[in-house]
Amino acid sequence: MKEVLKKKLRRSLWLEIDLDQLESNYLALKEMVGSVKVMPAVKANGYGHGIVQCSQILAECGADYLGVGSVDEAILLRENGVRTPILVFESSFIPDMARVFREYDLMPTVFNMEQAQALSAVSDKEMKIFVKIDTGRGRLGINAEEFPDFYKELKEFQNLKVEGVYSHMCGAEWPDENCPSRSEYPLWQYGRFCKAMEGIGEEGKKIPFRQLANTPACIAYPEIRMTGICPGRAIWGYSPLERREGHPDLAMPMKALKSRLLDIHEVTGGKFGPGFSAVRLDHPRRIGVVAGGVGDGISPKHAASGHVLIRGKKIPIASAICLEHMIVDLTECPEAKMGDEVVLFGSQGNENIPISALLKAWDKTLVEFWTSFSPHISRVYLKRGEVYSITSGDIPKRIDL
Ligand SMILES: *Cc1c(COP(=O)(O)O)cnc(C)c1O
Repeated sequence: MKEVLKKKLRRSLWLEIDLDQLESNYLALKEMVGSVKVMPAVKANGYGHGIVQCSQILAECGADYLGVGSVDEAILLRENGVRTPILVFESSFIPDMARVFREYDLMPTVFNMEQAQALSAVSDKEMKIFVKIDTGRGRLGINAEEFPDFYKELKEFQNLKVEGVYSHMCGAEWPDENCPSRSEYPLWQYGRFCKAMEGIGEEGKKIPFRQLANTPACIAYPEIRMTGICPGRAIWGYSPLERREGHPDLAMPMKALKSRLLDIHEVTGGKFGPGFSAVRLDHPRRIGVVAGGVGDGISPKHAASGHVLIRGKKIPIASAICLEHMIVDLTECPEAKMGDEVVLFGSQGNENIPISALLKAWDKTLVEFWTSFSPHISRVYLKRGEVYSITSGDIPKRIDL
């Protein structure tokens, strides 16, 4: 393990994120779409990768916009020098939060008049907004058919400028000539979007960012990219589509989850085994205590089928039900020393634990997995294999009353 990490990591549990890979994913998508604008989705703490450092890299790469999940995420980016235009997808009650959007120069998502009135009332200068249309996700947005009337009403607010119109795709697979029904739903969504735009005539063509395409849609349906795409999973190295021609080269920047052995000793009792009830052991067991537990997002299911890597060896997990620790069985690893690096996924020596093994053991989808890691786990960012930056801790900020 690198010396700098020994000295700088305050808590011995960290995710390793390869910023070169993040950059390469962004550039592959940008090359795929050409002049179409790209808004990486960095919500949910950058899909778990750490929103600040990753957004800084995406901004440096030239991302046209960033899509965040909350005002708090947006403020964090502004406070860390990210000047890229930011769209907040929606998680605030806008009539009560309008001032914050103006104060931090954020673009809100609007789909009802109450929001528009509140935003207009607090804006002394022009505020850029995005309108969300529901084309078939069945969640937030004004129904596509109601959009033209809504847009006309919006225009009454002189100080609101519609910078973008967007909608969320429900899911998309590669089109298949032999199976037209596959494309039916995405193309229906696209059709509703287009009709909504036609309903406002020439003005629709002037709205800078018109976007419907998330990860699978932007790859599988070039014809629906309009003026912008909003990839989330693809930025973080994953697409649900099978690889074929036209698919960009993507790989995951999240390379490893690592920890250290905080202590090694022999015990004669504890909560071990599948039932996790207290058991007295008939002979002492040599255990190692590892930083990292359920409170960090590590699944208690890990113990059942999991192991970790220490000194390049597979080491069984004895118990993973603690909030902050994991207990490993060091019987077969007498050479282990306190302070040794422990790999929960990733490589060590000739061994590797792939993320796919953990998805199975933890019974999670990839997005659930990425976002299960608490923001307080350190992120170690690498560039050209060297440590580039480290985050540590997240103490929520107090809000002045
Ligand atoms: C999260 C999000 C995306 C990205 O979706 P992926 O499928 O991860 O690419 C796109 N659009 C909106 C509105 C989103 O909230």
